[in-house]
Amino acid sequence: MDKLILDHVLDHEAQLAERVYLTQPVGGGQVVDYTWGQVVGEARRMAAHLQSQGLPRGARVAILSKNCAHFIMAELAIWLGGYTTVAIFPTETAQTIRYVLEHSESSLLFVGKLDTWPAQQPGVPAGLPCIAFPLAPPETKGAMESWDDIVARTPPLPGRPARGADELAMIIYTSGSTGTPKGVMNSFGAFSRAAELIAEDVRQRVGSQAEHRMISYLPLAHSFERSWVEGASLVDGRGHLFFAETLASFIEDVKRARPTLFISVPRLWLKFQQGVFAKMPKAKLDRLLGIPILGRIVAKKVLAGLGLDQVVSAGSGSAPLPPELIRWYRRLGLRLVEGYGMTEDNSYSHSSRIDDPQANEPGYVGVPMKGVEVKLSPEGEVLVKSPGQFSGYYKQPELTAASFTEDGFFRTGDLGERRPNGLLRITGRAKELFKTAKGKYVAPAPIENLLLAHPMVESCMVSGVGQPAAYALVVPAEDLRPRLAGDTDLRSRFEAEMAALFERVNGQVADYEQLAMVVIQGEAWSIEAGTLTPTMKIKRSRIEANVAPRVDGWYASGQRVLWA
Ligand code: AMP
Repeated sequence: MDKLILDHVLDHEAQLAERVYLTQPVGGGQVVDYTWGQVVGEARRMAAHLQSQGLPRGARVAILSKNCAHFIMAELAIWLGGYTTVAIFPTETAQTIRYVLEHSESSLLFVGKLDTWPAQQPGVPAGLPCIAFPLAPPETKGAMESWDDIVARTPPLPGRPARGADELAMIIYTSGSTGTPKGVMNSFGAFSRAAELIAEDVRQRVGSQAEHRMISYLPLAHSFERSWVEGASLVDGRGHLFFAETLASFIEDVKRARPTLFISVPRLWLKFQQGVFAKMPKAKLDRLLGIPILGRIVAKKVLAGLGLDQVVSAGSGSAPLPPELIRWYRRLGLRLVEGYGMTEDNSYSHSSRIDDPQANEPGYVGVPMKGVEVKLSPEGEVLVKSPGQFSGYYKQPELTAASFTEDGFFRTGDLGERRPNGLLRITGRAKELFKTAKGKYVAPAPIENLLLAHPMVESCMVSGVGQPAAYALVVPAEDLRPRLAGDTDLRSRFEAEMAALFERVNGQVADYEQLAMVVIQGEAWSIEAGTLTPTMKIKRSRIEANVAPRVDGWYASGQRVLWA
């Protein structure tokens, strides 16, 4: 019988009881360490409490919290008790929180670290029992039971509670870039297989003996962090997970963790780079990096400034990473690779292999990971069968059936091209394609990658459904944005850069993909405004809806570079 995730966890509790697994900042630079013995000990007590509440086996229990040690303890308590986790993004609105809690019929909610709880609280249905983590907002005090009180008075659940491979470990509501969230059901079998295979893959990258350190800051409610950071560390046992205190202290938090493994998403890789350029202009840095010996020292300093100088393996996923960006990090000496996966396969699908030139090319997302089968449909859609495959969309059997081919491959909705050795390039999203009046489908992602290669561009979106030609919306880099309004020189320089970029991009794309204009948008897109998903992918439909009233005017102006 294959081991499942709880078997690994209970083995670590027995064999690594004194080893520190989690480090949680608790304010003012102070941290609390939790050993495996403590983590599983608290989870056992909370599991016993959940059972004492009479929740039936398989009941859904929700977590609404930023990443913290108690997120992991709560998930273990849910699993040990016999239940299924529904983790909600901590940035979600009251409306979506209510939708997810009601759709999943959650029986209880853990409330954790949150920035906007008073605005979110109305999304919690009246009468739903809630339990506050130690780091929950002050408004929860007295309004609900506290984790610490329950753990202090409840004896631990004894023995080795086990779950079946087909039981549901979690339902992940995908934020999606369109429509209402779908509940992706992940069984213990699929999550455990994905986590084991990821742990094995990571071991190959970092070496079998080394202890490794990670900082957990991408939302745990999302499959990428859940599988690659939580899942893999629960299997491996020798990973030490650190959490971040606040957004403002992030770099300090990273420096405390000195991560050996670090995963992120393209938008953040870009932001870290722009932080570096804000301190030293790109041209100067390029020059210094080109000088023998000194270049190495400078590169090491730049990585140390980001807290990434101990990183042995770095990864990017969840959206396309511009090839220029990956090359820039590699020039600094960071072993950054791109991977590809999705909630529906527990984020276990493709990854690049840095030491194998055949499986590692910027612009490509890598080769299938062990046990993953892939093929392309006649239309070029990527079809995947992964050991981490989900069991279906919760309460949506028809959508589930339509998502699989007859031979059991998941229709990813992504368009791709494959080299004979399996190296995959994602060329777009089937449903992102749009037609301009030129009548041919435009895939926006590759054009956006060309625009994002410019150091002054933080994010962008290419659109233009039914218009004479496509347009690009660009958001200037963070350090420029506040100055552009008042500094006319900077403004003209930025406009000139965008005009040159416009020409450059149009020189590189097909006739039907030519941009009609570059529109500069002074305000950044954000999760709070609903224009970015919780993993910071752009929400195209939302941004398109926001600018819709102005688009015709842009085309009528005939300008090539203009302000939104
Ligand atoms: P999610 O379920 O939120 O993880 O979203 C999965 C989707 O993200 C995939 O179907 C792709 O459209 C996209 N995605 C993930 N990784 C990449 C990548 N490396 N390049 C391009 N798109 C990606």
